[in-house]
Amino acid sequence: MMPLLGPSPVQSPRFRAFGPKQIHAIAKRFPLSAEQVKTVELISQVLPFRVNEYALSELVDWESVPDDPMFRMVFPQRGMLAPEDERLLETASSTGDRQAVAAAVKEIRGRLNPHPSGQLELNVPRLDGSPVPGLQHKYRETVLYFPSQGQTCHSYCTYCFRWAQFVGDADLRFAAPGPEPLIRYLGEHPEVHDVLVTGGDPMIMGSDRLSNHLEPLLAVDSVRTIRIGTKSLAYWPYRFVSDKDADDALRLFERVTASGRTLAVMAHFTHPRELGTEVVAKALSRIRATGAVVYCQAPLIGRINDDAQTWNSLWQAELAQGTVPYYMFVERDTGPYDYFKVPLAKAAEVFRTAYRALPGLARTVRGPVMSATSGKVLVDGVEESAGARYFQLRMLQARDPALVGRPFRAHYSPTAAWVDELEPVPDTPADIAAAVWGGTHRQLLAEGSQP
Ligand code: SF4
Repeated sequence: MMPLLGPSPVQSPRFRAFGPKQIHAIAKRFPLSAEQVKTVELISQVLPFRVNEYALSELVDWESVPDDPMFRMVFPQRGMLAPEDERLLETASSTGDRQAVAAAVKEIRGRLNPHPSGQLELNVPRLDGSPVPGLQHKYRETVLYFPSQGQTCHSYCTYCFRWAQFVGDADLRFAAPGPEPLIRYLGEHPEVHDVLVTGGDPMIMGSDRLSNHLEPLLAVDSVRTIRIGTKSLAYWPYRFVSDKDADDALRLFERVTASGRTLAVMAHFTHPRELGTEVVAKALSRIRATGAVVYCQAPLIGRINDDAQTWNSLWQAELAQGTVPYYMFVERDTGPYDYFKVPLAKAAEVFRTAYRALPGLARTVRGPVMSATSGKVLVDGVEESAGARYFQLRMLQARDPALVGRPFRAHYSPTAAWVDELEPVPDTPADIAAAVWGGTHRQLLAEGSQP
């Protein structure tokens, strides 16, 4: 067993989450206006709100509220819902009629595209002809696993693309009660080498529970990599330092790496401030001492991290902590997407400006990337030729392995924020056009695109 680092010098607070019911208590301790309290109460009826002491005390800069990026990351704001939906919700709330409020909430959530990229229909694997709950299988070699006890987070991000997991509606939720169906499925699919345990946040689980989900994977020879998608390093780094079962989690990580598998902690860091505390540095050191590799990823979010300086600082801080900058994602078309979205043209410019000032070792990062129905579409840049402008695009990952790595182009647009708002050029290869744009562009294909 590799030695864990010594005891932490940081305090050992106990985790406690605060939700809409505690907003008045939060307002007594932190400078929230009456209007901000009202906004949280209103919007959190539709979109989830959860925060904890660490986020309140260590991440938010209260002197910069309401413009502070960490404040915007965790506190719901006016504008996250469309104006007509805000009005609908306010009117229903003012009646005091719970049924009217519930009906309004359901109607609004239905308009927020709770499961983007066709994931409810397209990615659900089957065993004995029946869907397997809590699994997704989109790419040949990777299965996503959603343990049911890991379907919350230490805080919720206002821009969360998995918000539907947290709103208490079973129809909108992925959740696997235990690992048995996953293990059976892996037995039938030896082509799967990589299991991504995700949520919510799997690190919200106690170490015993986490172990119950992970250990059975160590008996499956075809599984070579286990990934854990988590924002706990940003929202509750004590999970790896001073929580009562922090050492148990790290010993579990050691068992995974000792089995010869790669353990990748896919850390979600949105802003460099999340990497600036003593406790997160300690948590990262302890994780790295287990042999796990920490890869860092986050979406580009309007009003929170949509400038090149922030991303450059973020990637430099990640490199300095011995982690691997990995992905800049484009915000997905779900939830409060219209409020937080960043046009692809701006995203490409932010990426390029931040990237070109990086040291070589941090240029492991890829982006901006859209996790679209067809796969991961990278915006490689903007090209000018013969007086016209185009987006250079590339499939980084795809349902159809034949598409992986293939470049293609679309007409430039200053406002498009997702791939389905782009127009492919006429010579787009037919298989790429069909995968990326589907039926929308059948006519274009029939009229002259190349096979
Ligand atoms: S950590 Fe991930 S799953 Fe949790 S609220 Fe944030 S974006 Fe959503």
